[in-house]
Amino acid sequence: MSVTTAIQLISRGEAGAPAVGTCSPNLARDPWAFDALPLPDYGPGASMHDAAPPATPRQGELPEAYRTAPAEELDRRILAAKEALGDSVVILGHFYQRDEVVKYADFVGDSYQLARAATERSSAEAIIFCGVHFMAETADMLSTPQQAVILPNLAAGCSMADMADIDSVSECWDQLTELFGSEPDASGRQPVIPVTYMNSSAALKGFCGEHGGIVCTSSNAAAVLEWAFERGQRVLFFPDQHLGRNTAKAMGVPLEQMPMWNPRKAWGGTDEQTLRDSRVILWHGFCSVHKRFTVEQIEKARADFPGVRVIVHPECPMPVVDAADESGSTDYIRKAIDAAAPGSTFAIGTEINMVNRLAAQYPEHTIFCLDPVICPCSTMYRIHPGYLAWVLEGLVEGRVLNRITVPDSVAEPARVALNRMLAVQP
Ligand code: SF4
Repeated sequence: MSVTTAIQLISRGEAGAPAVGTCSPNLARDPWAFDALPLPDYGPGASMHDAAPPATPRQGELPEAYRTAPAEELDRRILAAKEALGDSVVILGHFYQRDEVVKYADFVGDSYQLARAATERSSAEAIIFCGVHFMAETADMLSTPQQAVILPNLAAGCSMADMADIDSVSECWDQLTELFGSEPDASGRQPVIPVTYMNSSAALKGFCGEHGGIVCTSSNAAAVLEWAFERGQRVLFFPDQHLGRNTAKAMGVPLEQMPMWNPRKAWGGTDEQTLRDSRVILWHGFCSVHKRFTVEQIEKARADFPGVRVIVHPECPMPVVDAADESGSTDYIRKAIDAAAPGSTFAIGTEINMVNRLAAQYPEHTIFCLDPVICPCSTMYRIHPGYLAWVLEGLVEGRVLNRITVPDSVAEPARVALNRMLAVQP
């Protein structure tokens, strides 16, 4: 049963509904109910309590024909449009996307795998990215200028990416430059190297490209930090404090050398001496999906399923990563399950759509999400087959809807930071 079906059954109290709850009754509503709200809103799901900044992209109203069409009609129209468009379109689906959308994807993967997949389909004039905004930006920067990258719902942003905007990071950088200067030390290491997680805006990737910095993913964060330490006395890591802390801690960096920079406080809420002693300055950002996982959930899983293997994503808080058996990217989790002996039991700390799909794909194992409540990524959840049908039929009619374009002035330095990452061998 898909996560969306489970949510609908739970909301209606119907027979066959899973014996769990959801984090919001609004999950049962269609995403277009939130497109029309007067202020930007992430919608129901894990990010629903995060404040969406005014600059968060908004989606205009989806035409009524797509809002009222039954699922069977949308299915027929999506398949017909796909067939009419043939190889001129490629649909990419993120691991965290709902099954009702993923079933139409030509490729399913994490953000970086999907951006690479886009570059490998050079015949595709249109790339429909069923993920979130920063992923579509990356695909646009890595694809050819002739290819149009389309995000079916523009409100599919990312609350974590929104926690570090270019103005706040530039302000932080200016303060750090005031404190440390901009001259390298005797061994040629710069005072600070900026490192941005892939889950960030193109503007921040461009910032890193311009300031001797680099991009990382959850798969290569340690190798990238190694690269940065060779070139800098310390690292400014944004937007995800947890990935930065978990990675640097595993590399032996003491916690007291990892101060947090809160952009809403003077000097980031820290002090000059702490910054001088630092090795990694962590931005005050987090993923609201992975923040939901707790040590208590792990303890309960171990009590209920002796011998369970607990794997969590490194965007989880440090105590959760420490209490788990392993931590790794979505791809790591998938490969670990794939390689396990039949009959294994896994408790997984990552987004529910992915965990649910893994449980269906590997019936020989017992696989469950650590979070006892159904709470998908709010922004991935903003994409629904109705939006997919709308952008596909637009293409059939020769109209490119919801195109994501990164200006050259941003894309060029961002590609520098991305290429530095590609050159790093994990
Ligand atoms: S799971 Fe977290 S980091 Fe990923 S898109 Fe959703 S909010 Fe952003």
